[in-house]
Amino acid sequence: MATVVKEDLNFNNIVSRQFDRAAQYLKIHQALLSQIKACNNVYYFQFPVRFSDDHYEIFEGWRAEHSQHKKPVKGGTRFSELVSQDEIMALAALMTYKCAIVDVPFGGSKGGVRFNPKKYTAGQIERITRRFTAELIRKEYIGPGENVPGPDVGTGEREMAWMADTYDTFKPGGIDNLACVTGKPVSQGGIAGRREATGRGVQYGIREAFQYPDDLRALSLTPGLEGKTVVIQGFGNVGYYAAKFLSEEDGVKVIGIGEWDCVLTNPDGLDIEKLNDWRKVKGSIKDFPGAQTNPNPATIWDIPCDILIPAALENQITLENCDRIKCKVLAEAANGPTTPDAEQALHKRGIKIIPDIFLNAGGVTVSYFEWGKNLSHMRFGRLQKHLEEMKNQTLVRAIEGLIGKEIPLEQKKFLVRGPEEIDLVNSGLEETMVSAYQEMRQIHLSKAPKESMRTAAFIIAIQKVAQAYEQLGIFP
Ligand code: NAD
Repeated sequence: MATVVKEDLNFNNIVSRQFDRAAQYLKIHQALLSQIKACNNVYYFQFPVRFSDDHYEIFEGWRAEHSQHKKPVKGGTRFSELVSQDEIMALAALMTYKCAIVDVPFGGSKGGVRFNPKKYTAGQIERITRRFTAELIRKEYIGPGENVPGPDVGTGEREMAWMADTYDTFKPGGIDNLACVTGKPVSQGGIAGRREATGRGVQYGIREAFQYPDDLRALSLTPGLEGKTVVIQGFGNVGYYAAKFLSEEDGVKVIGIGEWDCVLTNPDGLDIEKLNDWRKVKGSIKDFPGAQTNPNPATIWDIPCDILIPAALENQITLENCDRIKCKVLAEAANGPTTPDAEQALHKRGIKIIPDIFLNAGGVTVSYFEWGKNLSHMRFGRLQKHLEEMKNQTLVRAIEGLIGKEIPLEQKKFLVRGPEEIDLVNSGLEETMVSAYQEMRQIHLSKAPKESMRTAAFIIAIQKVAQAYEQLGIFP
């Protein structure tokens, strides 16, 4: 009789195991390690929301603060019927480590409400969001200098605008109020590029990983992304933008996309924009004319590809299904998609893992830019755009004088153009992802070459957080 291996799927325990695996490579006092690992505080609350005179429902909400070694603490807001305290605590811990890896000066936090937004109207979701925010305000679990929520699964710009407005209603006249939440619409104090930032970061991170011939040779891959095959689980905010940018700008072929209700395949590559339009009209990616639809979502793991991008939820790749996976690189866009046991099995098979705490850090990086923008009360690029255009104009004229002919108009326009906010955001994001990857790769090779790259990412994070705690000392 075959033995069934039981895996611990508690997300909080999983993050702790990942932490412990890295900690053994560090000479840090056990007490300090325990302090870093622990979730500092969790606020659990129940709240009623009235939908009509005789109809109200009770909701459960959480906001966890994992570490205040830097303030404010930061992390997304999840609306899903799967939300639990363990999940929120685990996600808060990942936020701490993620921020440290990309040098974003925040501690980690996360929040959520247990309900399925698909079963509620926009008006009902607004009431839930506002009441949730009011509860956070009461206990000081939100505020520009304390705790700054952002979007996550089941929330987006709309919910962030409601949260910001609710905060402003309770704290009238607060000049920095807009910085109480990130991921807002640009017209409500958001920043250009935040909506697509996590997917953009995934693109930049994967692109950088495909720059090192020695690393790629070991995977039987050539450098560069052109023509590489990609499969993505989850066509939400992160999955959609990663698919779009990688296919439109780097020439990859997205040959498979999985959602909760089906898997689409096309060996020649899916047209991501057409698929997005289809989903908007039909409410599902199912039966997209440019692909074959398989109604079994689990078949996503059977598609051979160069890069597999899980971009849905945690605990998707487990001991039960990891043998089915046939990719060379597992690029974790979701938080916690791979269990530690599955990771070991994949690592043994030579599959390279680009870990979540690095790869999906684009969202919090651009959230940091948004927070800074809100506190400075000024759009990025507003002061320097025109000045740079004038300088570039002078330079172009000088070059034309030297070469004795005019530069073609299109090229001239490109050379002269001063930076818009989106250019500065994407450039800051790319620089962040590239340098974080290089640091992670260097630590991987020098400190833990036998481990997966996740251990290197955790080593960097633990070291940085430990240093902050050591410098802060212990009060009193
Ligand atoms: P989202 O809600 O926009 O998208 C998630 C998608 O996954 C949805 O389309 C959903 O239908 C799909 N999905 C759910 N269960 C599935 C299943 N079993 N199989 C296949 N598809 C499934 O959420 P998102 O913001 O794109 O977040 C996705 C992941 O990325 C999460 O793990 C989240 O924590 C992480 N993340 C998001 C951000 C961000 O800025 N939004 C930042 C960092 C990390």
